[in-house]
Amino acid sequence: MKKVLVFTLAASLVACKAPKPKSVEEANPVEYANTITPDELREHLFTFASDEFEGRETGEPGQKLAAEYLKTEYKKLEIPSPLGEDDYFQEVPSSVFTRGDVKPSENVLAYIKGSTLPEEVLVISSHYDHVGIDDEGNIFNGADDDGSGTVAILEIAEAFKKAKEDGFGPKRSILFLNVTGEEKGLVGSKYYTDNPVFPLAQTVTNLNIDMIGRIGEGKEEAGDYVYLIGSDKLSTELHELSEAVNQKYLNMELDYKYNDENDPNRFYYRSDHYNFAKNDIPIIFYFNGVHEDYHQPTDTPDKIEYDLLAKRAKLIFLTAWEVANRDQRPFVDKPTLAEEAGE
Ligand SMILES: [Zn+2]
Repeated sequence: MKKVLVFTLAASLVACKAPKPKSVEEANPVEYANTITPDELREHLFTFASDEFEGRETGEPGQKLAAEYLKTEYKKLEIPSPLGEDDYFQEVPSSVFTRGDVKPSENVLAYIKGSTLPEEVLVISSHYDHVGIDDEGNIFNGADDDGSGTVAILEIAEAFKKAKEDGFGPKRSILFLNVTGEEKGLVGSKYYTDNPVFPLAQTVTNLNIDMIGRIGEGKEEAGDYVYLIGSDKLSTELHELSEAVNQKYLNMELDYKYNDENDPNRFYYRSDHYNFAKNDIPIIFYFNGVHEDYHQPTDTPDKIEYDLLAKRAKLIFLTAWEVANRDQRPFVDKPTLAEEAGE
């Protein structure tokens, strides 16, 4: 009798110590969005877009250094790779590059496993390669293109990780996908969607970031804005979710100018999200528009608008939070690209 009593007491003490299971609905995502700060973005970018990284040309030493930088940061954050162990790199072989002679390269992958719907995956992507050094030795630092998207992903990943540590991990899994070879023709993202680590049928959405650190041509007088492209192309629900998140938390100007089918720039087809859209996965592409330093050696980290970059990264984080945590994945109600082409 006595023995049993002691045991019961011990068991109840243990039970008291274990944290009460939490529901993500109790969390305030703004608390985690606010861990994304201009100072941390600046610190990352002044390294990532420095001359030491030699313009991060695909397959070249600067790109390798950039890949190592990302791996080191994910390890510091204790965010694992879906490839297991210490392997954060998906090798992209030379043979898949069709423009010129490109050495093997790698996509960098990290992920947070979902709590209740781990088999469903949200992909947040940006390319981390750029165009290297020209014949005169000018280094193209690519601070905006796409250092801005890359460091935004690191901060978004950190915010999700902090939430998870507080017991508010996302319901769905989130893959942080830093792709290579964008500047060689969207090669890294194509390689990923041809060789997905998670089934594409279970990939619920792709949020792609390519250039969100500057003010684009013609937007000099605008307030806080970002161009959104593709949000309504496959899923009305994703578009409405994105609008609602912005209205609730940030109230930025979401500019859909480049979402127009007749826009000659055709940006919907020009960055890595396209490889997901092609596979019927709803996407949103976040973009600041082009500017005088686009693809110039003058795209340097001192010219980045860090407050605006942080605000845009928060918008993407909060949108990702909603996609990862709502009951249903965004419903595809629009014709797919194949259907539109009459295939
Ligand atoms: Zn780019």
